Amino acid sequence: MSKKGTINVQTENIFPLIKKFLYSDHEIFLRELISNAVDATSKLNVLHKAGEISGELNNTQIEVSINKDAKTLTVKDRGIGMTEDEIEKYINQIAFSGAEEFVKKYEGKEGAEQIIGHFGLGFYSAFMVADKVEIRTKSYKENSTAVKWESDGTPEFTIENIDKKDRGTEIVLHIADDSKEFLEESKILELLNKYCKFLPVEIIFGKTSEWVDDPKGEKDKDGNVKKVEIKKPRIINNTQPLWIKQPKDIKDEEYKAFYRELYPMTFDEPLFHIHLNVDYPFNLTGILYFPKLKENIEVQKNKIKLYSNQVFITDSVEQIVPEFLTLLHGVIDSPDIPLNVSRSYLQADANVKKISSYITKKVADKLNSMFKNNRKDFESIWDDLKVFVEYGMLTEDKFYDKAVKFALLKNTEDKYFTIDEYKEHIKATQSDKNDELVVLYANNKEAQHQFITAAKERGYDVVILDSPLTPHYISKLEQKLEKVKFVRVDADTVDNLIKKDVDIPSKLSDDEKEKVKAIFEEIVEKDKFTVQMETMSETDAPVVITQPEFIRRMQEQQRLGGGGMMMGTFPEMYNFVVNVNNPVIGNILRKKGDNKKKYAKQLSDLAMLSQGMLTGEKLTDFIKRSVDLMK
Ligand code: ADP
Repeated sequence: MSKKGTINVQTENIFPLIKKFLYSDHEIFLRELISNAVDATSKLNVLHKAGEISGELNNTQIEVSINKDAKTLTVKDRGIGMTEDEIEKYINQIAFSGAEEFVKKYEGKEGAEQIIGHFGLGFYSAFMVADKVEIRTKSYKENSTAVKWESDGTPEFTIENIDKKDRGTEIVLHIADDSKEFLEESKILELLNKYCKFLPVEIIFGKTSEWVDDPKGEKDKDGNVKKVEIKKPRIINNTQPLWIKQPKDIKDEEYKAFYRELYPMTFDEPLFHIHLNVDYPFNLTGILYFPKLKENIEVQKNKIKLYSNQVFITDSVEQIVPEFLTLLHGVIDSPDIPLNVSRSYLQADANVKKISSYITKKVADKLNSMFKNNRKDFESIWDDLKVFVEYGMLTEDKFYDKAVKFALLKNTEDKYFTIDEYKEHIKATQSDKNDELVVLYANNKEAQHQFITAAKERGYDVVILDSPLTPHYISKLEQKLEKVKFVRVDADTVDNLIKKDVDIPSKLSDDEKEKVKAIFEEIVEKDKFTVQMETMSETDAPVVITQPEFIRRMQEQQRLGGGGMMMGTFPEMYNFVVNVNNPVIGNILRKKGDNKKKYAKQLSDLAMLSQGMLTGEKLTDFIKRSVDLMK
């Protein structure tokens, strides 16, 4: 018996549309067909457990195979199969109208490819790569007849009875000429590894070699049993991925091994992990790992893999979790994340919102409990963790509120303080005359050594803030904390950074100051440096070059992106601070003729040198002059 039919189409030529339209994401057909095979197998298991199928289920593996000569790719399952009526209902009607509706809805829409990648057309996506598709299937129901459905990508199809003994479905794709890549073993292997690595039903594809002891016991010349190569079906997936197990049953080593399984190309071990496990008010499981963050955080983003019932969906989870959490690695598996909607819709989805805030809370709680239970360990990983915490505090107010209690500041002596502890620590010494607390920070102990030393000589403390997010982070803290400001040690002279109500008398008269100032103004680049005469301590350096906090922060924020309202680049501007109380400054006035300028230049160059700003010709001149002066 063979019968022809026509699928009831409303859109003319839907198949060419499916094909053209989904151009960029052809490969997902495989995921769709295998998901169907997994579903059919899971249904079979459910029926079996419920006692509706008697006897053994035997093998339920799903097999993927390629026949290069026949140009076919086959996905074979041993699931529930379909009867002729079911094909009519599920394939000709329901699946088709689903596909049709989908294409109509998204045709020509911007970003549609992206959506499809996370949605899929189901069975009909096979026509993206095949010009003919056969379904050969036999239902699990007793005495059912096996049938073959066939369509060549037009709404016409044929259906006929066939001789098929075993239960289940084979989908045979006759691969189109423009999709030959899907007849390559390496390509299919790659796709299976990408999409099917953790599916709950075993999937086999091709064979792998294994070397075992010769079963006949033959020995080599050294008397050892010979090894022989045997070919075994290659199993693609781990059907019991770690995240579906109970945390209490998992050893730390297993978490690490799973991390390596997820990211075979990453060599660093994660710092620690969080196992997520919720079933109310939504379903979510997963394991999030905290990686060691490097300078360039952008490249480390978006490594979390999203699954829906163990089917890989995407590894870009932006808009599903808050941005700072995209720095984490690991897996999230939730059947409750809607996949068939556009990304912008996703953001507004109530479930997605709940999931987001759940994960944010979990992460904050985990960090908090690590901080509380073992502060030493927490401090020891803080340097690797801080970028993540800072990022979270910057972008999520809810996270900020929790994290402000465990976020740490490290000083130049490697001591760690919470923000409250630190405020207490410097309260007596670093309040300025307006009662504002001044936090002095450095981002490089070596480069800012001179400034750090000057601060310490006054009995001040200096913290190290060297994360790429520092400029944004301290602006955020200033906004949130009351009467606290952050200044980098080289933003000004230390007495200007923390202004006290004491006046140091000047050793030079106003007239002398003017004269010195004029000499220096002649030798500096006017558009870059502003000469400033300051009465500092005798022991402070004669000339110091500083960059005002505001200007530097603007520049850095601009470099990081998101600098705010500033357009164009911020000009380079420095203060050229002359310490009128250092005796060598007064000495300049006593030098004769050209020597005045020469000495001033020498002092200016020394200051430049200490800021790493003296290079090239200027450095050569400086060295020559230094030698001259010693003659
Ligand atoms: P969806 O999987 O989203 O329901 P599909 O277009 O992929 O949509 O499939 C439509 C229907 O066809 C399925 O719901 C299922 O009833 C049936 N079907 C598809 N593939 C198989 C299969 N391998 N075994 C049994 N039934 C299948």
